[in-house]
Amino acid sequence: MNISLILTKQCNLRCRYCFETHENVFMTEETALKAIDMAVRNNDKSVGVSFFGGEPLLCKDLIYRCVEYSKRFDGVKFSWNMTTNGLLLNREFLEFARENKIFIAMSHDGLMTRANRLYSDGRNCLETLDSRLKLLLKYQPSAFIMATTTPETAGDVAESMKYLFERGVRRLNLAIDARPEAGWDEPSMEVLSSQLKMVAGYVCDQFCKGRDVYFNPFEEKILAITRDRACHICKLGMRKPYIDWNGLIYPCIQFGDVADYVMGSVQTGIDAGRRESIYRKSLQSPEFCEGCAHRKRCVNDCACINFQQCGEMSQVSGEQCAFQRMLIECADEMAREMLEKDEKRFSARYL
Ligand code: SF4
Ligand code: SF4
Repeated sequence: MNISLILTKQCNLRCRYCFETHENVFMTEETALKAIDMAVRNNDKSVGVSFFGGEPLLCKDLIYRCVEYSKRFDGVKFSWNMTTNGLLLNREFLEFARENKIFIAMSHDGLMTRANRLYSDGRNCLETLDSRLKLLLKYQPSAFIMATTTPETAGDVAESMKYLFERGVRRLNLAIDARPEAGWDEPSMEVLSSQLKMVAGYVCDQFCKGRDVYFNPFEEKILAITRDRACHICKLGMRKPYIDWNGLIYPCIQFGDVADYVMGSVQTGIDAGRRESIYRKSLQSPEFCEGCAHRKRCVNDCACINFQQCGEMSQVSGEQCAFQRMLIECADEMAREMLEKDEKRFSARYL
């Protein structure tokens, strides 16, 4: 079991697709340290901690304190992750991250940033994000970069992915705006599909030139076949419970503030029965996926996304289904082409 700490719900951005409430609430030191105590009690020898928000770097001092506190647990190996919008990254923090092996995942939408990632006064943050990205890649060249697209920006996906790869990104993820009000429809899905084909062409082209860049949504679909690896292995609430700023424990981020999904607190610990029953409930598959040939390579079992989009853990939205199908189709086409072009390097990369 690892833990994710929601250090705050506040953020220094107002992305158009954000589902966060931006309340001015912050995790106290007492709550954070109690969460670490609880994780140590549950895990014995190894503990993973992810810092999450809102924007976790608004709470830098608390991050420093957590890492320092962990050093008192002799014989327990800690691993650290953080998901950030990157705006507050600086040399001092990155030195600290390097020293303590904090792996940073940063969100950056490439050119789509101009439309979607705004400060509260409406300015976009592309220029600042680019400088932070450059700095991050200097310290962590393989840092994971996460992009999000919306129906309005779907037509800029290919240029945006290229923009990021050309700035040195090696590992890139793309998600779709999963809010029910996002407004995905057939035309915007078609645009997205043709853009993903262009991304596949670009990744393949780079591969042929001897440069390996990884577009995660394709990679996981290919590896699901070549290495028989599941695309999604979350085990809702069992492996990585989310600890909200106030110490309440939820199975995943989308369930925050939903009373029915509280499964304990840092004061009382995790209610094992409650956790088990939420996990069991999350295993129910959507009926319309029965018999689908893509099942093994689809993230239809992500209870968190399903809950966000459909209000039910075991329902998959039409747009998620369409997105999964287009990813599989593009990934297969890309893999075929790579294999044809350079079998040896394809095998080294995927087998
Ligand atoms: S950076 Fe994340 S938390 Fe902040 S506004 Fe954007 S999506 Fe929301
Ligand atoms: S592609 Fe659609 S129908 Fe098939 S498993 Fe995924 S969500 Fe279900």
